[in-house]
Amino acid sequence: MFSKILIANRGEIAVRIVRTARRMGIATVAVYSDADAKALHVAEADEAVHIGPSPVADSYLRADRIIAAALATGAEAIHPGYGFLSENPDFVDQVTAAGLVFIGPSAAAIRAMGLKDAAKRLMEEAGVPVVPGYHGEAQDDGLLAGKAAEIGYPVLIKARAGGGGKGMRRVDRTDDFAEALAGARREAKGAFGDDSVLVEKYVEKPRHIEVQVFGDNHGDAVHLFERDCSAQRRHQKVIEEAPAPGMTMEMRRAMTEAAVTAAKAIAYSGAGTIEFIVDASEGLRPDRFWFMEMNTRLQVEHPVTEMVTGVDLVEWQLRVAYGERLPKTQEEIALNGHAFEARVYAEDASKGFLPAIGTLHHLSFPIDSARGTTMRIETGVRAGDSISPFYDPMIAKMVVHGPDRRQALNGLAEALAGVQVAGSVTNVGFLHALATDADFAAGDVDTGLIGRKQEALTTVDRPSQHAISQAMLAAAQFGNAQADGDPWGALAGYAHFHPIARKVTLGFGEEKLDAQLTYDGKPSSNAALWPGHVTVFERGNAFTFSIPDPFAEAAEAGSAHGSMRAPMPGLVKIVRAAAGDTVAKGQPLLVLEAMKMEHTIAAAHDGVIAEIAANGSQVTEGTVLVRFAEEA
Ligand code: ADP
Ligand code: ADP
Ligand code: MG
Repeated sequence: MFSKILIANRGEIAVRIVRTARRMGIATVAVYSDADAKALHVAEADEAVHIGPSPVADSYLRADRIIAAALATGAEAIHPGYGFLSENPDFVDQVTAAGLVFIGPSAAAIRAMGLKDAAKRLMEEAGVPVVPGYHGEAQDDGLLAGKAAEIGYPVLIKARAGGGGKGMRRVDRTDDFAEALAGARREAKGAFGDDSVLVEKYVEKPRHIEVQVFGDNHGDAVHLFERDCSAQRRHQKVIEEAPAPGMTMEMRRAMTEAAVTAAKAIAYSGAGTIEFIVDASEGLRPDRFWFMEMNTRLQVEHPVTEMVTGVDLVEWQLRVAYGERLPKTQEEIALNGHAFEARVYAEDASKGFLPAIGTLHHLSFPIDSARGTTMRIETGVRAGDSISPFYDPMIAKMVVHGPDRRQALNGLAEALAGVQVAGSVTNVGFLHALATDADFAAGDVDTGLIGRKQEALTTVDRPSQHAISQAMLAAAQFGNAQADGDPWGALAGYAHFHPIARKVTLGFGEEKLDAQLTYDGKPSSNAALWPGHVTVFERGNAFTFSIPDPFAEAAEAGSAHGSMRAPMPGLVKIVRAAAGDTVAKGQPLLVLEAMKMEHTIAAAHDGVIAEIAANGSQVTEGTVLVRFAEEA
């Protein structure tokens, strides 16, 4: 076996690969960018090599630096994880040319599946059912419109180089085709540098069911059953599960056979996934599933397969890459129970799943799983780490296994209810709402489920009276909430002098909440204090209240000078004032663009501007945007 490998990735997947390597006695080398110098994956690996600045193009996508790091540390093989360079055949060629082993399929297999149109032509030849549609080379607009009419509406336009749901447009009528095509081409050009598209029949009541396959370098290939990833928003997976609800023996046999045929057609070696689209309008029928694409790497949702088969897929990847035969035959791979995975992201579900950033001032996961279930938490961050704008905003994957679907789902809902994150907005409340949704629980899933119920699934309730009380108690330091940040921890001592009653004011959104508190001795363990805020956790929801800082307010009231800092990293887009200007409180001074949104920064008080950030400057969180002059 290899004695040392390099992991060309970050976050939870890098940490997860280290874990298996360590168990197998293999040393690991991490790589990291500036932003990740103190990241968990760096701490977990045996060695770490800095490969460049934070943007991915300067670090995690720099094949040359990654290969140099492997050679310098004496690693014999490179594991690419998912995303980044994992499906880049040129990288595989470079790794091999450097005398290293790529832990994954051959460059030829990746190329064969890299473009959706060519992959579909190849699969058709191999006898795998493919979605009816046009996947030819010719790209004339008129020709494509003609093909769409032939296929019959609704159709789906897809970027042939697509991934992550980008460059896709559903079209329902002839009249809308031209505009949708232009939109898909624009998005594809921007994201993949290739505006070629294919046109497919839009499948009714679509379900996304994929099959995990595994091949070795001795000509063998097996499947490890299916996963259902129909719970999607904007064509991206949210909760995945194995096996697929309602799966029949007949349908499973047909799908897994087609998947193994697909893998063998390209002499596939390593872990791969064959994604199928299924028409579930009349239940699961063996003549209603079609090949969509193959992902030639380890998948984000691979843990659900591991939970129901007991196979460590990373271990298999390492063994197969080293040249060993598949550790098990098809007959030896069995399905046991049911598993779910939910992807916890820093994003605002109620604002169209807008990605968010922030420092995770408080982060804690449940310790116990629901009775009868097993829980596995995959994460690449710790309390105090930041979700930066440079990378995917994933915080963790909550994976739960149970003897059957009902118990596993119940376990998932409980696990989500126990996730506590303060410092960034997250999708935990949304995931919890989905995990407790009646239709989802009934196994009645299709890719439109979330869209149809989006309103209900993303509406955040008001905090209960109990939650507000918990926030007040924590803010007043009556409870034993964890005080993660100064200067709030220091207030604890102060509270001792006033144990009987205290007046507390909190902000919630635009509202001000006041209360006269009397300590009743009940500690609150579901609240987290962090600089200027208190966050209370209630059934998957996190309610954040601001704690007005009496010192800051006094300073603001007493004098007219001070500075205004950037609340998040971003780009200064518009500047409406200049040094020397006299401005009034509330007057817009500049516009900061961050996370694809524009934020207006208004004067915090009346005063004279001494200094203001330049238009076009890139700022980090905390950078002074405006400095007021001292009053004469
Ligand atoms: P899956 O079908 O497994 O969700 P996707 O093709 O959508 O796979 O992408 C795989 C995952 O890789 C994404 O969910 C994302 O977390 C990660 N990923 C992809 N590209 C990048 C990137 N450039 N930077 C960081 N993470 C990425
Ligand atoms: P990506 O590379 O972006 O993952 P896929 O081809 O795998 O692209 O499609 C992503 C998602 O889009 C699928 O999981 C499914 O929800 C939806 N989808 C794809 N093809 C079809 C189709 N023909 N009909 C209906 N939905 C589809
Ligand atoms: Mg896909």
